[in-house]
Amino acid sequence: MESLKAKGVNAGLAVVIVGDDPASRVYVNNKKKACEYCGIYSEEYALGAETTQEELLCLVDKLNKKEDIHGILVQLPLPKHINEETILNAIDPKKDVDAFHPVNVGKIMIGNFDFLPCTPAGVMELLDDAGIELEGKNCVVIGRSNIVGKPQAMLLLHKNATVTICHSKTKNLKEVCREADVLVVAVGRAKMVDESYIKEGAVVVDVGMDRDENGKLCGDVDFESACKKASWITPVPGGVGPMTIATLMKNAVTAAENTIR
Ligand code: NAP
Repeated sequence: MESLKAKGVNAGLAVVIVGDDPASRVYVNNKKKACEYCGIYSEEYALGAETTQEELLCLVDKLNKKEDIHGILVQLPLPKHINEETILNAIDPKKDVDAFHPVNVGKIMIGNFDFLPCTPAGVMELLDDAGIELEGKNCVVIGRSNIVGKPQAMLLLHKNATVTICHSKTKNLKEVCREADVLVVAVGRAKMVDESYIKEGAVVVDVGMDRDENGKLCGDVDFESACKKASWITPVPGGVGPMTIATLMKNAVTAAENTIR
């Protein structure tokens, strides 16, 4: 950041939110707070739920051209009348700090990327920081979304892990998971994964952000149960979530640095 500022560049991030989804509002507020903390200039565009696709495309086009904005984040999900893919594809790949644009997805596939998608990259950072070796390990990812599961599997593969991706049509899910040295759970179902899915001594990463029966934030993993088998496990809250935001900040700085390279 300081070296950027010395060159007269202040990293700038635009966060766009459409509609009034309460969870999205919390995520956007957290991202704004993180920008303030890191000294990143941020602009918020809060649009009404009735915003048309055309209007949103116009805003993305304006932000693509704005010189003081280096990163653009459109908070998902968008209202149903707006095609998410059309919007994400309209973001300049150089400003695509979420790494959802097909150009950036392709770059991740070949291992030559500018940005990594925030949540999977945050998971990799956590594993690395804990000194967990991935080469030759059996890694199982539950979930195959474009945002988490698929890129997560690719990043583990880049670390020479042997990777299995599971989804709702996977047969014998528990048995497959019990083969995992490292189990990454991104399924979107509160506390679904308990000790019966986990091999003794496995590493467990819980990506889930769900609500339990009392409306309390929880993960996809039943933490108490999983602790009986896991040698290392991430909690919810306080695990992957903050790492997602940290990676977003890193990507915003990278986007700004790339303008002066
Ligand atoms: P998603 O798009 O709904 O994908 C869920 C995946 O789980 C799908 O691939 C689905 O399979 C699979 N699945 C659903 N039920 C299953 C079952 N019973 N058995 C096996 N697989 C099943 O969700 P996502 O966007 O990837 O998010 C996953 C979780 O991570 C959510 O809790 C979300 O809130 C959380 N999340 C957290 C962060 C963070 O910063 N911590 C960021 C993003 C997401 P099919 O493909 O066959 O339908």
